[in-house]
Amino acid sequence: MNTTYNFSAGPAVLPKEVLVQARDEMLDWHGSGMSVMEMSHRGEEFMSIAAKAERDLRELANIPDHYKILFLQGGASSQFAMVPMNLLHEKKKADYVNTGQWSQKSIDEAKKYCTVHLTASAEDAHFTYVPTLDKWEIDPDSAYVHYTPNETIGGVEFNWIPDLTQVKGGRADIPLIADMSSNILSRPLDVTPFGLIYAGAQKNIGPAGLVVVIVREDLLSRPLNGTPTMYHYKTHVEHHSMYNTPPTYPIYIMGLVLEWLKQKGGLIAMETINISKSKLLYDFIDASDFYQCPVARPDRSRMNIPFTLKDAALDNEFLKQAKAQGLLQLKGHRSVGGMRASIYNAMPYEGVMALVSFMKEFEKIYG
Ligand code: PLP
Repeated sequence: MNTTYNFSAGPAVLPKEVLVQARDEMLDWHGSGMSVMEMSHRGEEFMSIAAKAERDLRELANIPDHYKILFLQGGASSQFAMVPMNLLHEKKKADYVNTGQWSQKSIDEAKKYCTVHLTASAEDAHFTYVPTLDKWEIDPDSAYVHYTPNETIGGVEFNWIPDLTQVKGGRADIPLIADMSSNILSRPLDVTPFGLIYAGAQKNIGPAGLVVVIVREDLLSRPLNGTPTMYHYKTHVEHHSMYNTPPTYPIYIMGLVLEWLKQKGGLIAMETINISKSKLLYDFIDASDFYQCPVARPDRSRMNIPFTLKDAALDNEFLKQAKAQGLLQLKGHRSVGGMRASIYNAMPYEGVMALVSFMKEFEKIYG
C-alpha cells in the first residue's frame, strides 16, 4: 500500500507504531493467551492496563491526586448532560461561552437542566474568532462556566486559559469546565485552573467509545434528583471507572497512545511539532489567493484547519485528486462545506508537507 495521510476530524489517525503494536498483541497480549478484547475487566491483566494508562496520563499532564480521572462511555456528548446534572449542585444557572457548533450543543443540552447565561458569543462573526475576556460577563449565581477550547468544526481555538477573576461578575471559586475533545494532549496541560475537563477519545487519545473526564474531587457532591446511577461522577470515582464494564479495548489503545506520547517527548514536544505543522499549512494558505481560511489569525486551531477553494465548484475535483494521492478525508463538515485538514498529534509533519505540495500543484492547474 502506498503511503496515505488521514486528515479526518474523528475518529482520526492513530500513530502507526500504536497500530502495529496493537496488531502484534491482538491474539495474545503479553503471553496471557488472550486478546485484550477477551479479558475480564476485573482480571489482573486488564486492571494493570487501565492502571498504567491512568498513571501515564497523570504523568504526561502532571495531574495532581485531588483530580480524579474517569474512563467513561457515551462520548463527549453525554458530558453535555453529565456536567449540569452533577455540577449545578443547588444552583439554577450556569454560564456558557459560545464559540461554535460544539459550544451550541453543550448549551442546548444544559438548557434542559438550568437557565443558561451566555458569558460571551462569537455568533456575530459566524464563529470565526474567540471573544476576549473584556467581552465576557458571568452571572455571579452561576454554578460553573463552560467553554470549548477547540471548536473542531469551525477551527477556532483558545490559545489561552480564561482567568475568571478578570471577567465581569467572575470569581476564582466558580469552577471552569472545558470540553477539550479536540485539543487535549496537543500542548502542555495545566489542569489546576479547571474544575472539570472532558474529552472524547477519538481525536487525540485513541479510538471512539471512550470519554476521559478529569474532575476536581471537591465538585463530586450530590447530583440532581433523578440522575441515573451511570450519570453520577461519584459512581465512577468510587468504582475506579469499573462500576460497569468499561470500554476495555479503547482504554488499551489509549494506553499505547500515552506510551507513544511519552516516547516522543511528552506534551512540550507535541506542542512544538503541532506549531510547526499548523504554521506550514496556514502560511501556505495565507500566501495563496486560491485558498482561504476564514478564522481570525490569533484564534486559529492547531488541530483543525478549515479552508475553502476560490471556486466551490472545484471542491469535488480537489477531493478526488487528493484521495488519489493518498490524502484522505479532507472534506469539510457538512454544515460548513469546503475542506478541513485535521492534523492531530498522530499526523506526521510529512503528511502536512504532502498536503501542501498537492495544494500547490492543484492551484497551478486550476488557479
Ligand atoms: N465536543 C467536541 C469539541 C467535538 O469535536 C465532538 C465530536 O467531534 C464532540 C464534543 C462530541 O463527541 P462524541 O461524538 O464523542 O459525543
